[in-house]
Amino acid sequence: MTTVFAPLEAAYDPEAFRTTAHTLMDQLADYLKAALKGGAMPVLPWAPPSVNQERFATPFPEEPPAELAPAFANLMARVLEGSHHLHHPRYVGHQVTAPLPLAALCDAVSSLLNNGMAVYEMGPVATAMEHHVLAWMASKLGLPEGARGVLTSGGSAGNLTALLAARQAKAGFDAWNGGAHAGPPLTVLVPRSAHYCLARAVRIMGWGEGGLTPVDVDASFRVRPDALEGALQEALKQGRKPIAVVASAGSTATGAFDPLEPVADFAEEHGLWFHVDGAHGAAASLSPKYRAQVKGIERADSVVWDAHKGLLMPALVTAVLFRDGARSFDAFSQEAHYLFHGDDPRPYSDVGLRTLECTKEMMPLKVYACLSVLGTRVFEEAVTASYDQARRFAAMLAATPDFQVALPPDCNIVCFRHTPAHVPKEGWDALQARLREALVTGGNFYLVQTRLPDGVYLRTTLIHPLTGDGDLEALLEALRRAAGP
Ligand SMILES: *Cc1c(COP(=O)(O)O)cnc(C)c1O
Repeated sequence: MTTVFAPLEAAYDPEAFRTTAHTLMDQLADYLKAALKGGAMPVLPWAPPSVNQERFATPFPEEPPAELAPAFANLMARVLEGSHHLHHPRYVGHQVTAPLPLAALCDAVSSLLNNGMAVYEMGPVATAMEHHVLAWMASKLGLPEGARGVLTSGGSAGNLTALLAARQAKAGFDAWNGGAHAGPPLTVLVPRSAHYCLARAVRIMGWGEGGLTPVDVDASFRVRPDALEGALQEALKQGRKPIAVVASAGSTATGAFDPLEPVADFAEEHGLWFHVDGAHGAAASLSPKYRAQVKGIERADSVVWDAHKGLLMPALVTAVLFRDGARSFDAFSQEAHYLFHGDDPRPYSDVGLRTLECTKEMMPLKVYACLSVLGTRVFEEAVTASYDQARRFAAMLAATPDFQVALPPDCNIVCFRHTPAHVPKEGWDALQARLREALVTGGNFYLVQTRLPDGVYLRTTLIHPLTGDGDLEALLEALRRAAGP
């Protein structure tokens, strides 16, 4: 007879789970109510790293306490209290959304079922859902019927996946098996305003610094189509073989959308792979009002789209879509697909063939469940509302004498600075940094900052669907107060 360590058996007890879960759901619902209301609750209960480290320095016990449920509830209460509150309407910082509560429930289901998804048999339902979620996203982008893709762990992994496929398609040699040095050194044309993960991806592929050929942007931080030819010539002069051109929809710092159509034309003319990093802004395709921002995305060979930025999902869910679905196998290809085309017998249903991950959580579950239970309009309206909100905020700033907007917003990212009369121009950069620190450590707002060519700017992403004009007016007042004199 086997004897199981009693606390191990108790850890799987369904009735204990039921009780714990009910308590947790009440805790979470109360938390959500308080966070959405904002009020006196700080956005980020700021504390230095050492203080938080000390708070959680209690050694792990060898044995569980007599009562599991209260121990768990107490710990979760401390987690809720000390964490960054993204449902607070005055969270206007990084591009991380206030997730739909329904999605959080899906994550609990995913964690309990733990259907790994590397092969179909390990995640039969999730695999089917992934197919339908990707098909919906591809259709919203206007990609053709044969478009396929995968869900992966974030935009960084997604952009790497797309560029790996581009390399296998366009290098002219088998870099996957032969290595980066089995042919001429390669490069990708990338706007200077693009996310740093692209520079990282080319280095991961072993192409070094020259693996990325920067393309100049205009005063609005959009790639200059007339600079593409010069960048291409420069790459050739450096002995590099350009294989792809990237455009951002939109870029991270300012949210500027590159003009996709002229970039698509250039790629077509030169036989280059056209990749769109739509991690932040591919969601514009959902909004009838703002769809024009991504005109030309339907011509991309590959697109990356973060559901945790534009689709109200918790991190991480990123779609990598390929216009020619079979290219999706090339990213982690064990065969030289630049040589062998035609029907691919490998099953789409074993998604692990096409992802960086082997075991992968049930990523599609939350996207599929929210789309099917809440309907698609919620997502359209969330995009439209947040882009509208950014335009109203920019207008609000422009109407003041003491704030400057860096550029009219393309999406929901607004960069601006406070320029009160009592601070000379030389002091503006230091002022923005000081203001941000004051507001963030004070807890009333969470916003970030960025350096643009003419100085430091405060940066906001209006990603919480319930942030309103009143919150933004209060933000400006708080900045004025913090600036003195
Ligand atoms: C956020 C972002 C990324 C990185 O995505 P993660 O999901 O954070 O890894 C890449 N590109 C752009 C344009 C982004 O905005």
